[in-house]
Amino acid sequence: MAVTVLERKPRRSGGSSGRFVVQEHHATRLHWDFRLEMDGVLKSWAVPKEPPTRPGVRRLAVQVEDHPLDYIDFGGVIPEGEYGAGTVRIWDRGTYALESRKPEKLVFELHGERMRGRYVLLRFTDKPENWLLFKAKNT
Ligand code: MN
Repeated sequence: MAVTVLERKPRRSGGSSGRFVVQEHHATRLHWDFRLEMDGVLKSWAVPKEPPTRPGVRRLAVQVEDHPLDYIDFGGVIPEGEYGAGTVRIWDRGTYALESRKPEKLVFELHGERMRGRYVLLRFTDKPENWLLFKAKNT
């Protein structure tokens, strides 16, 4: 007797969610570290200007090295002489839901205090470490 196996409909590509944090980092140069919990690490981007909280603002976001998950709660002082020396303050935090994930484009919904709604990270074709971070219009 034949057994019909009903496969579950796959979730949309990369359909996952996790936490995010934005750390305002007063280092040699002030910047904001935008981090998404993804693949067991914190995927990280350094944003030289305050991240967008409304549509129409595009920010350069330079992808930097992945950070360990436990860094998500870090706020405090990185001592002189250590990499990134300066003060780190949590600027925003919350959760996100990934809508789509491609090598050159991430779309996700942020549920933070300051950053809320649908966001896009769009990779530069000529400089792959550089991305644009912006809030989508249709939220
Ligand atoms: Mn930093």
